[in-house]
Amino acid sequence: MAMNLKRVPMREQDPEVRRRNFNEVALGYSLEEAIEEAKRCLQCKKPMCVEGCPVNVRIPQFIAAVVDGNIEEAFRIIRQTNNLPAICGRVCPQETQCEQRCVLGKRGEPVAIGRLERFVADYCMEKGIDDEVDIRPNGKKVAIVGAGPAGLTAAADLAKLGYDVTIFEAFHEPGGVLIYGIPEFRLPKALVKKEIEGLKKLGVKILTNVIVGKSITIDELLEEEGYKAVFIGSGAGLPKFMGIPGENLNGVYSANEFLTRINLMKAYDFPNSHTPIKRGKRVAVVGGGNVAMDAARSALRLGADEVHIVYRRSEAEMPARLEEIHHAKEEGIIFDVLTNPVEILGQDGWVKGLKCVRMELGEPDESGRRRPVPVKGSEFVMDMDIVIMAIGTSPNPLIASTTPGLNVQKWGGIIADEETGATSKDRVYAGGDAVTGAATVILAMGAGKKAAKAIHERLSKE
Ligand SMILES: Cc1cc2nc3c(=O)[nH]c(=O)nc-3n(C[C@H](O)[C@H](O)[C@H](O)COP(=O)(O)OP(=O)(O)OC[C@H]3O[C@@H](n4cnc5c(N)ncnc54)[C@H](O)[C@@H]3O)c2cc1C
Ligand code: SF4
Repeated sequence: MAMNLKRVPMREQDPEVRRRNFNEVALGYSLEEAIEEAKRCLQCKKPMCVEGCPVNVRIPQFIAAVVDGNIEEAFRIIRQTNNLPAICGRVCPQETQCEQRCVLGKRGEPVAIGRLERFVADYCMEKGIDDEVDIRPNGKKVAIVGAGPAGLTAAADLAKLGYDVTIFEAFHEPGGVLIYGIPEFRLPKALVKKEIEGLKKLGVKILTNVIVGKSITIDELLEEEGYKAVFIGSGAGLPKFMGIPGENLNGVYSANEFLTRINLMKAYDFPNSHTPIKRGKRVAVVGGGNVAMDAARSALRLGADEVHIVYRRSEAEMPARLEEIHHAKEEGIIFDVLTNPVEILGQDGWVKGLKCVRMELGEPDESGRRRPVPVKGSEFVMDMDIVIMAIGTSPNPLIASTTPGLNVQKWGGIIADEETGATSKDRVYAGGDAVTGAATVILAMGAGKKAAKAIHERLSKE
């Protein structure tokens, strides 16, 4: 059989246009395009793609249904293991998961599994197709801390099993990073809200503006409010800074704060919204991950003349998805690699410039990546009026400090069993970024699923 080595391309907004708007960049497949791409799948007997998926979506089966034009069936198959396919189809790093393992990748381009997943989810969402579930309430209450992908997934699975589930969320809107971190142009918020509506239909209650550890503690939930178990999916939202001079100047943001202002407080909808955010003419984003790319591309869309990514290693070591780097470059983001900030310069309390030193790669470090070392005497200054730090985040210590008996790592991560999410404290489970540190949507969802199963095993015995 002749093998088609090239995938069906997906339409995108033109870089020149999209660099000034917040609409979604990737436009998705049509039904015809999806079927054509689905036909490339070889329907392997031992599908390696499935092993590459953290929640083992039955990939060849759903793709076969797409080939038959039975999109509803494809949706049903995906939803057996993945509650949020429209989200995963957009933001999962497929190139290092399912698609990396696809056999077609050995000779050509792997099947575009992510794009097909996205197509199936969007198609069914548009047509209002949903899978039927038969819920038998068991009256047992479970509390979930945090409405990010970990908490939402645990909540959905537990609700389907009949539990009376309440999510406690610190922000005024549920969704976690899906709402306040990942920008509109990669993940439309209307779509995340629809997925969350689906959760409410399962009977899950979501209480917003409740900070667990401040408004109420985990012990109070268990001992006074009648919850039989608690799942902590509170994420890793505490930004790290470099500890260099000038970081307290006006115009220095953490990527987290910058993106939250844009997303949650709709600063992108200027002048219809009034969130105060400085619109820099020259913006430097420090870091090389997805968060850095999102911050840089958002700054550009807010109207910056020039946006730089400043990264201390080389492009090959950048942790961001290839697609994000590619899109950022297409839009005109300037990449200053092997460059490390040493000081933020100011004038009258505001950022004026960024002093950097050139780096070169030395011997590999503990992470296996070659360690960047400064080149002596190579300091130079770039004029900047905004500096955004995107060098990582860690879990907020609030929950750990208000929950006696809950063991955490030195860096703040909650210690939890990998298979069950069980923590050192009875009836308390945890998963997602709160346990692993900043990771991915699908890993957080996977952790929520495992914990839901373990909570059910525990509570169904009582
Ligand atoms: C800008 C950005 C871009 C990203 N891009 C991608 C991507 O393309 N693909 C990908 O797979 N991953 C991406 N990630 C990572 C991914 O979003 C996270 O790994 C994932 O969201 C973690 O899910 P979670 O449920 O553990 O935590 P979160 O999504 O962080 O959700 C935690 C929730 O808990 C709430 N909370 C915290 N403390 C409390 C408290 N004390 N009481 C009540 N509620 C609390 C928070 O407000 C939040 O809503 C990105 C992350 C960021 C920041
Ligand atoms: S590995 Fe690739 S070709 Fe084989 S079943 Fe999975 S998607 Fe299809």
